[in-house]
Formats: sequence, C-alpha cells, structure tokens
Amino acid sequence: MSESSRSALVDAWVRPEVRALKAYHVPPPADVVKLDAMENPWPWPGALTSAWQQALAEVALNRYPDAGATELKQRLRKAMGVPEGAELMLGNGSDELILLVNLLVAGPGRVVLTPAPGFAMYRIIALNSGMAYREVPLGEDFELDEAAMLAALRDAQPAVVYLAYPNNPTGNAFNRETITRIIHEAPGLVVVDEAYYAFARDSFLPEVLEYPNLLVMRTVSKVGLAGLRLGLLVGHPDWLAELEKLRLPYNINALTQASANFALEHRAQLDKSVADIITERGRLAEALATVPGVVRVWPSEANFLTFRVSPGQATAVHQGLQGRGVLIKNLHGSHPQLSDCLRVTVGQPGENARFLEALTDALSA
Ligand SMILES: *Cc1c(COP(=O)(O)O)cnc(C)c1O
Repeated sequence: MSESSRSALVDAWVRPEVRALKAYHVPPPADVVKLDAMENPWPWPGALTSAWQQALAEVALNRYPDAGATELKQRLRKAMGVPEGAELMLGNGSDELILLVNLLVAGPGRVVLTPAPGFAMYRIIALNSGMAYREVPLGEDFELDEAAMLAALRDAQPAVVYLAYPNNPTGNAFNRETITRIIHEAPGLVVVDEAYYAFARDSFLPEVLEYPNLLVMRTVSKVGLAGLRLGLLVGHPDWLAELEKLRLPYNINALTQASANFALEHRAQLDKSVADIITERGRLAEALATVPGVVRVWPSEANFLTFRVSPGQATAVHQGLQGRGVLIKNLHGSHPQLSDCLRVTVGQPGENARFLEALTDALSA
C-alpha cells in the first residue's frame, strides 16, 4: 500500500479530535536528579526487597489475576479509610479511572468541566472519550473563582466536573466551602481527585456518601508506588455498579496486586517516607524563596513546589538545570497564569541540595 493511500485512510477514519491531540510527552529516562514527575524519591528499602520478591515468586503467572482484586480492595479500604457503605473500584492508575468515568457519561454535547491551570490529563482524556472540554480560569493565587465556576455550571451543564484537591500543577488545596457549593450546584458528577491526599491536610473521602453526585479518586502513585499503576475510585454503590460494567475484567494485573498487597502490609515504610517528604517540602520551600531570581514560591499541600522566576527566564533555567543534571518541569507556556513558572518535586535531601545549587547557578548564568 502506498504512503498516500495510507495517510488518506488515517485522515478518513481517525476521529478529528484525536488527530488534533498531541500524545502525552514523557521525557525518556536519563541519568539525572529526577524531580519532574511527583514520584516518591525513596526506593523500596533493600531489607524488604527479598521478601517482596518472594511474594512475587508465588504469583501464578499462567493464571489470570483475581478479577475483583478482593484482597487488595480490602486492604485499601482499611489503609485509606473508605467509609462503610461506600464501594470502590481500582484502575490502572487514576488515569484509567478518569477514562472510565468519562465513558460512563460521554455522548454528544456532554461536557467535562475543570478549573485551569490543572491536571493535563483531564483535557486529553476528555477529548479521547469524545467529550467536549471546558476550563474555568482559577483566580488570584490559584484559588477557585467561585462565581465563575457556578456560572459555568449553569451555562455548560457539565456531565462531570474534575477538582484536584490539592491541585496539580499549583500545589494548593482549593477552598473547601467553595468545593462543597460546586458539588451542590453541579448538575452531574463531581470527581474530587485526591492524588496528593497523603501530603494534604484535608479530604472529602469521609463525606463521599453525603452528596448524591460525589466520587473521590486516589492513587498510590505519589506515595511511593508509581511503577505499579494503581488508582482507586470511591463512591455510592449505585454509581460504582454502573462503572463496573465499563471496567475491563483484568485491569489490575497479578504482579501489581501482589506488590500492592505487600506494600500495604509494610505501609509504615510508605508512611515514614511521606512524613519525610512533608518535612523536606518545608525546608525546600524556605531555601527556594531565598535563591536570587526566584520571585515567588507558592505554598504547597502536595509533594512538589511551584515557583516563579524573573520574567523570560523559565525556559533558560529549565535547560540550565538539565545541563547541570537536574530535571524539573517547565510550566511556562502551558497556561497564561503559569508564565515564568517551574515545578519541582520534593526529592531526597541530597537531591534537593543539588537542585538548589544548580538553580542558583542557572539563575546567575
Ligand atoms: C499524578 C496525578 C494523577 C495520576 O495518577 P496515576 O494514578 O499515576 O494515573 C491524577 N490526578 C492528579 C491531579 C495528578 O497529579
């Protein structure tokens, strides 16, 4: 088949909104201080590794996994404090759960609404699932603009609203009363995305059953298990029973189930690293604010810090850091409110020191 007839077929059959998308870009792994992706910087401790490998060795790879992931769900209920009477569903990362929620409500004219700047996947997955996507700009200091949000709810009648609590890439937790009013006023579902729950002071999980349209989503990615791909969605059984029809039967593979079970048995380890990250976040925020050329560091309830450098510097600083072996995220250009902004994940103390040193150099270069 010729080049041109193939590209004509691609044009003819691929949905235009997919043609228009750019695939989510992840930089290839490199030998750098990696502070770009909100990973927990602490690897699994060596002392536990052989016990974990033993647990994996007992997995029968010739068999399908437990389709209901019964043991893992039970452990997650306890570990996360899922309220009695609420149902939960697991996903291959919370990204898969966002896709399933969208597929549940997608159709002509159905809208996904979210404040911006926000999590990049909300838009990508909305378009993937054939939905219209609408953003409402955040206000000063990245707080929800309540009047604008409520007006957008009336105007767009969204099938689903995503609220990241705390928000990525800004790091702040939105005002709780404003979120509550949005849940009340929303005509459809509201998903409160608590990817950073472990680093935050507050949660909607205990109240998930108190609103007819609320779902709470979490993930183990940011607390130390990003490699597993495991997210959870919690809500009333009436919603979860419908979602369960869309979930592909074996979406959580046997090795992920065994590894997550093992990790939750040893969760003191994860809890300790989370506590260390919170302490280190405070130190890093203070140090960052004193670096010449850093004009603003926003308060964070997540495992990263968003900061602004002098006008026009962000891209050069990002590249300068990379040249010095430190990878962070350049937010400049991703949204008007993020001009001159960068985002750094809280690393190990030594990594943070290297980052601060490289940043100081890059800003004075
Ligand atoms: C990282 C992140 C996720 C993605 O979590 P996975 O479980 O790794 O897919 C979801 N929501 C927000 C706001 C995030 O920052």
